[in-house]
Amino acid sequence: MVFPKFLADCMLGKLARWLRILGYDTKYSRYLDDPKIVALARFEHRILLTRDKALAEGASDVAYLISSSRVEEQVQEVIKAFHLPYPTPFPRCPHCNELLFDIYQEEAKREVPLFVSLTFSQFKKCPQCHRIYWPGTHWQRIIQTLSSS
Ligand SMILES: [Zn+2]
Repeated sequence: MVFPKFLADCMLGKLARWLRILGYDTKYSRYLDDPKIVALARFEHRILLTRDKALAEGASDVAYLISSSRVEEQVQEVIKAFHLPYPTPFPRCPHCNELLFDIYQEEAKREVPLFVSLTFSQFKKCPQCHRIYWPGTHWQRIIQTLSSS
């Protein structure tokens, strides 16, 4: 299944992290100016998510204007606008946007707190930053928040 890819502008870092955890490829840069971020969105065929009306109007071929200031609602806006299924079975690292891969409990045990390795059996790891995730981290919290809103 192919999902649209996103590029969050500098005001939407939190939204970017949530979209990644839900499994959507989302780039985020704090440092690009408007012309560069629009060029990057066009070049990589990403939908530019922004709360900047002028930016969205100036780049209406690639930009999508986010109206809410609350991240929970912003995620809902994106999911509705692009008919995204959620969560996808492929969560991404909220820091790196890399796809997480499954690791064995034995491997995770060496790197997570003891109570975590005793409580959870499913672990995922980021190939880039090597952070380990399990269903008790923000991953699950975000999915629950969205399901209840
Ligand atoms: Zn990572």
